[in-house]
Amino acid sequence: MATVGVIGGGLAGITAALDLADAGHHVILLESRSRLGGLTNSFQREGLWVDNGQHVFLRCCTSYRQLLERLGVEHQVQLQPQLTITMRSGSSGRGTRIHRTSLPSPLHLGGALLAHRWIPLRERLQAARVALALGRVDRDASETDDVSFGDWLRQQGCSPRAVETLWDLVGLATLNAHADQASLALAATVFQLGLLGDKGGADIGWATVPLQQLHGAAALRALDVAGAEVCTRSRVRAVTRTTSGWRVDLDDTHRTFDRLVVAVPPDIADGLVGSAALRVPADFVNRLGRSPIVNLHVVIDRQVMSEPFLAAVDSPLQWLFDRTTSSGLPCGQYLVASLSAADDLIGCTVAELRTTLLPEFVRILPRMTDATVQDFFVTREPHATFRPAPGTALSRPAARTALPGLAVAGAWTATGWPATMEGAVRSGHAAASALQEHTPARRDEVAA
Ligand SMILES: Cc1cc2nc3c(=O)[nH]c(=O)nc-3n(C[C@H](O)[C@H](O)[C@H](O)COP(=O)(O)OP(=O)(O)OC[C@H]3O[C@@H](n4cnc5c(N)ncnc54)[C@H](O)[C@@H]3O)c2cc1C
Repeated sequence: MATVGVIGGGLAGITAALDLADAGHHVILLESRSRLGGLTNSFQREGLWVDNGQHVFLRCCTSYRQLLERLGVEHQVQLQPQLTITMRSGSSGRGTRIHRTSLPSPLHLGGALLAHRWIPLRERLQAARVALALGRVDRDASETDDVSFGDWLRQQGCSPRAVETLWDLVGLATLNAHADQASLALAATVFQLGLLGDKGGADIGWATVPLQQLHGAAALRALDVAGAEVCTRSRVRAVTRTTSGWRVDLDDTHRTFDRLVVAVPPDIADGLVGSAALRVPADFVNRLGRSPIVNLHVVIDRQVMSEPFLAAVDSPLQWLFDRTTSSGLPCGQYLVASLSAADDLIGCTVAELRTTLLPEFVRILPRMTDATVQDFFVTREPHATFRPAPGTALSRPAARTALPGLAVAGAWTATGWPATMEGAVRSGHAAASALQEHTPARRDEVAA
């Protein structure tokens, strides 16, 4: 009987473990923390359920949505029937609502672009032409990954204002980088699959329950039903190849496996298996880098925002979300501002962030003027994603490693996607497939 170890219980490890268990393997998942879910997690604070960071997905995230179904939690997310985004300006207080129509792609976004009042009409028409050109970019060509999205937009004639209010609006949230810091290949992936592919591709979805419930707790149940063993509080210290498989050293014991999936962050994977096994440059961890995300959490004594979320223009707040229901707040409103590519903010104290950024909430939400702020706190994820910079593709390993019986997974591996939940799930499927090509499944053996 083949025994497969999966190291890391984020979305990538969960997906790989489920696939391998479903295929009949004896799976043991080792996770260093006390819970599953990895970078998608929640904690309790004064009776509120708080997510470590707001997460959204798009309708085009088909693998992630299938995982939700596999976990039996698809009813715990909300997916817009039709893309609608309310946008508000922090400088003028003006707002607009953009939405897609049911016209075939790319015409479905024509009205939204025309309603994008933050740039002159001439630039909106130009943006339509640029979007079509972006749709034609060969995102799989190696040279495309060497170009910066910002440089490419400038070559197309986009103004700094168009980059800031239009292209970065989507790019920051999906790539966790400004256009100048993002690879054209990754930007083209997001825009081609989300906005320029199927007309519903960019419809936005979000969890209506805490992330821990949506992913970690549901995965524990699903893995149990699938027959997989889950060992939390099990930090893997070393991985060694043996004549018959793999030895995995934990703090005070060791385990042996026939096959292994390593689904941990890049620096940990480097320490456990090394760059040569992954077939990436020796300094791949530095090359991938890290991009932080900061979330500002504000609890107010009354409702000040009617929309489930809105996009902020001319404001450092980027995107605002209403988390009242999912947090369990009985009255008032709980808002979260999700700040991507937050290099300048990650080192700030709560007091500094409150002083500089709380007034920005009032600029976007005038109803907050008379409200009482009952709580203001901050969550910081310094290693939220890798930096999706030009040239990153070379440092992202394929699921199949140089060593037989060893596969790697994680949102940072070569999925073609930026570091997202969709990328993590895809990487988990790829790792499970790579291992199964090495190892016939137990049920396959029985059937044979
Ligand atoms: C604040 C924030 C907001 C985000 N917003 C979005 C969003 O809106 N949409 C989106 O799609 N994506 C978003 N992301 C990205 C998304 O969360 C990640 O890409 C995805 O969850 C990564 O999953 P993973 O399994 O690859 O890695 P991880 O979640 O990092 O999982 C790795 C696991 O390995 C475990 N581990 C590490 N070392 C060891 C060891 N030695 N032994 C055993 N276990 C170990 C870790 O504890 C962890 O559980 C966001 C991320 C953050 C942080």
